Amino acid sequence: MNPLDTHPDFDESFRDNFAAVDNTTGKRNWFFPQKPTGKWHNRRVWFTIFQLSVMFGLPFIKVNGQPLFLFNILERKFIIFGIFIGPQDYWLFGLMMISFFVFIVFFTTVFGRVWCGWACPQTVFMEMVFRKIEYVIEGDWKAQRALEKAPWNNEKIVKRTLKVVVFMTVSFLIANLLLSYFVGVDRLWRIVSEPITEHLTLFLGICAFTLIFFFNFAWLRDQACTVVCPYGRLQGVLLDKNSVVIAYDYKRGEPREKLHKGKERTAGDCINCFQCVNVCPTGIDIRNGTQMECVNCTACIDACDNIMEKVNLPKGLIRFDSENNIASGKSKLITTRTIAYAVVLTALWVALGYAILTRDDTETTMLRVPGSRYIENPDGSISNLYTFKLFNKTNHAINPEMRILFPKGSLKFAGIPSLHLDGAGMVEGSVFITIPKTEIANRRTEVKLAIYAGSEKLEEFKTTFIAPEE
Ligand code: SF4
Ligand code: SF4
Repeated sequence: MNPLDTHPDFDESFRDNFAAVDNTTGKRNWFFPQKPTGKWHNRRVWFTIFQLSVMFGLPFIKVNGQPLFLFNILERKFIIFGIFIGPQDYWLFGLMMISFFVFIVFFTTVFGRVWCGWACPQTVFMEMVFRKIEYVIEGDWKAQRALEKAPWNNEKIVKRTLKVVVFMTVSFLIANLLLSYFVGVDRLWRIVSEPITEHLTLFLGICAFTLIFFFNFAWLRDQACTVVCPYGRLQGVLLDKNSVVIAYDYKRGEPREKLHKGKERTAGDCINCFQCVNVCPTGIDIRNGTQMECVNCTACIDACDNIMEKVNLPKGLIRFDSENNIASGKSKLITTRTIAYAVVLTALWVALGYAILTRDDTETTMLRVPGSRYIENPDGSISNLYTFKLFNKTNHAINPEMRILFPKGSLKFAGIPSLHLDGAGMVEGSVFITIPKTEIANRRTEVKLAIYAGSEKLEEFKTTFIAPEE
């Protein structure tokens, strides 16, 4: 896995240490990464602006009066790309989640941890929002270190208080954003505009999540990625030597040596300036090779490129590349493994597409009442008694009508015949199906029924009808 494993001086002892923990005291190592600057960082800034605009804008987008996305866990209602998923369609939700995870696995195998560095909300908010606020309030890494060591004088009290207030405010905003995906912006607006007592539970939820986000971005930070996140820990099995990762070109860089002015350089291109380490938010040295802690933030690429430019050496000593390409100049994006993932993913997407396109708005089950017999009516027709359950799989109320399609016959509901259904609602009841004897050819006849809303057919279903033997 490690790109240095073919290097004679390679030393793997760094893997015995966790950068975030002090080996002597066992205490946490608090990182003060240097402010990143450069081409890749600028790209990430633009991507972050785009991503945050999408994240904050999506809850306001509605399709047919309902949100494009909703993850209402409490009421077990989910809307994904405008598709409402109620209790009858959890399997669809499961299929979507499986497809998403296979996509992430496939994407990781090919492009490494691009998700972590560019799109994961943890990294985006930590590095591109909270860290930037910190740079503004406390200054760059050296100033932050000095402030940390300084006694609690006026300057430290003011800066730290300001940081807590701004961090809390942004955490509160993120908690509201999260809630808008849980309950929708309309309900969120009611929570904001109506008396707190009317929405006490959700208000307390916002407060709790504000504190959780504050704790995460003010204290947990890099450890959310290196200790808590299961995806980070899966890198060892997801990546292979053809995966594109952020990698140090040890062939070009080694042996590393300080730059000595006026002396002809015989060593590799790495001048051992430690800039790549100084900017790393997870405190690792990428020159040791691909590591679980690397979140692909690109800061070390920019730092090294800036140094290479200053010392008149080609850029790209640290870059996006595969281990195989660095070792031998040969790399394959399409491997047996990626083909296998692509096949599974395509099959899942086809199944998902088919399930969505052929999905009905209602789901009905109709069964003959156990132990009941057919009824021979005086007019020569036959009746069977059924129980039925009719589920509304949409998020809006409907007034459906049940009709017999084949053979000719009639329905007579026991009790109230109203089939009104609230969004995601269900009605159940009993119904007689009556069919003239002339329409019945066999002892068992398949009856086709349908659910209509006005002239629109929502669903077709079947049941079995029993008649006396001729
Ligand atoms: S920034 Fe580049 S030159 Fe400096 S130590 Fe890191 S790899 Fe070597
Ligand atoms: S090694 Fe480089 S890309 Fe990885 S986390 Fe550190 S600075 Fe970011």
